[in-house]
Amino acid sequence: MLTQNQSLKNLNTFGVEAKAKLFAELFSEEELAELLCDGKIMLEKKLIIGGGSNILFTKDFDGLIIKVSRSAINILEENDESVLIEAGAGVIWDELVKFCVERNFWGIENLTFIPGTVGAAPIQNIGAYGQELSDTFYSLDGVYAETCEKKTFRKSDCRFSYRSSIFKQELKNKFIITSVRLKLSKIQKPNTGYKTLQEYLSKKEITNPTITDISKAVEEIRRQRLPDPTKVGNAGSFFKNPEVSKDTFIKLKSEFVDVISFETDSEKVKISAGWLIEKSGWKGKRAGDVGTSPDHALVICNFGTATGAEILEFAMLIKEEVTKKFGITLEEEVNIL
Ligand SMILES: Cc1cc2nc3c(=O)[nH]c(=O)nc-3n(C[C@H](O)[C@H](O)[C@H](O)COP(=O)(O)OP(=O)(O)OC[C@H]3O[C@@H](n4cnc5c(N)ncnc54)[C@H](O)[C@@H]3O)c2cc1C
Repeated sequence: MLTQNQSLKNLNTFGVEAKAKLFAELFSEEELAELLCDGKIMLEKKLIIGGGSNILFTKDFDGLIIKVSRSAINILEENDESVLIEAGAGVIWDELVKFCVERNFWGIENLTFIPGTVGAAPIQNIGAYGQELSDTFYSLDGVYAETCEKKTFRKSDCRFSYRSSIFKQELKNKFIITSVRLKLSKIQKPNTGYKTLQEYLSKKEITNPTITDISKAVEEIRRQRLPDPTKVGNAGSFFKNPEVSKDTFIKLKSEFVDVISFETDSEKVKISAGWLIEKSGWKGKRAGDVGTSPDHALVICNFGTATGAEILEFAMLIKEEVTKKFGITLEEEVNIL
């Protein structure tokens, strides 16, 4: 069950080499409890991973990496209007989306084709094309890594925000998510406000999209825009879209009329990090085996045998250039280790 000196190369989508001192893949809560309650294991530094699609290993991990592979999907409750589903942390996120799309359960179809597992989805409150996990999130179960104590978190306990939650902040690597519950709608609720999605559907002359139309559209847009991590190592967006004050935005807009921005619920304006990077001259730029995608400046790629440290160094150069040009500091979306 426990392996030593485990290679992580096939366990992260950047495809970088690093080793874990100890590694365990667990398929049930019982296995997890048994491992965590072992006296020797209690003292080890811990890291939980799913699909490794939002992690950059820059060095070996001197502790225990736990991969939670618990994987079942169950319908807990349903009526004419809604359904409550539960999925194990190890379920592949896109398989859960397919399960819901096939049954006309509305609420996560815009999150089609996001890599990774269900257990990691609440960590950064995954989001895309106008939908976020928090829109349909109901609750989750898990255990504290240090004490083995079980806990259920309801939505209000999770402190979800843009690409963040309590699990990416004070509970980072302290709480292991074992299952997630979502409340979805059985009533047709297309969410097609996102510009790229809207444009795609109108080009195809789809005016009243079904859940399958939306899911297919999102998958096709993503296939066109994002490099496939099975072919080119990457972890999707490397940085978050920074949020600036309205005054800063007005100043920026007066200098750069083409600035790409998104509205937020707060007083702030979200600026496209991809646009900032492109305008700083870093779209498609390469240094050895590291570079930004020629199609999407926000995606940093491992084109060959780059190390995690080289990828990080490249990312920091981008960050410096953006700060120099725009006075805006980018924040990493990827978890750097
Ligand atoms: C091509 C590509 C496109 C992407 N597009 C998007 C996108 O559109 N929107 C988006 O939000 N993200 C996107 N991502 C990022 C990534 O897919 C998500 O963040 C995903 O949720 C990560 O899942 P994972 O299982 O791979 O997590 P991992 O990378 O293994 O882990 C991510 C974080 O979650 C923690 N974690 C993992 N599992 C658990 C658990 N069971 N309990 C506690 N902590 C845990 C880890 O410690 C780590 O901090 C993309 C990535 C790629 C490669």
